[in-house]
Amino acid sequence: MHVVLYPGSFDPIHNGHVDIAQRAAHLFDELVVAIYDTPSKRLLFDTATRVRLAQESLKHLVNVRVISYQGLTVDCAHREGATAIVRGLRATSDYEYESQMALTNKALAPDIDAVCLITSLKYAYLSSSILKEVAALGGNISNWVPPNVQQALHLRFRQGEG
Ligand code: ADP
Repeated sequence: MHVVLYPGSFDPIHNGHVDIAQRAAHLFDELVVAIYDTPSKRLLFDTATRVRLAQESLKHLVNVRVISYQGLTVDCAHREGATAIVRGLRATSDYEYESQMALTNKALAPDIDAVCLITSLKYAYLSSSILKEVAALGGNISNWVPPNVQQALHLRFRQGEG
């Protein structure tokens, strides 16, 4: 039974994340999407909302669970019984950061490996921060997010956030 962890801020989840989750769920027995409770980044959505949006967006995948966590990602992976951490790679800039993270995690927890999946071409330019910027300015984001996330962003920016 191969359980893998897909950690991140997911602020909010978008179609690039969903694509990686779908592909990882196809490769492994169980995928745990782990939403980092307190990243150093400034967040738009609170943890409960990020978890709910991810759960709704991934409900078609039977072997996927969504949780939130605090502390070290490798500790979360151990708690969940995961043997690897899945990450998505867009550009070479992602590679530099991800290889540093993977080596750090390996030093902390030699039993946990890193699995990086290359983004699908159509999502290669997509990031949560670009998405929020376009949504805040009233641009069309319907090709980049599931409908529930589109609605949540729309509501948030109508309320004058960001
Ligand atoms: P973090 O705060 O850890 O960077 P994110 O929520 O931004 O978390 O992203 C989570 C993971 O999803 C990371 O591995 C990131 O590289 C990956 N990811 C983000 N956007 C895309 C995309 N468009 N295509 C593929 N992977 C992506």
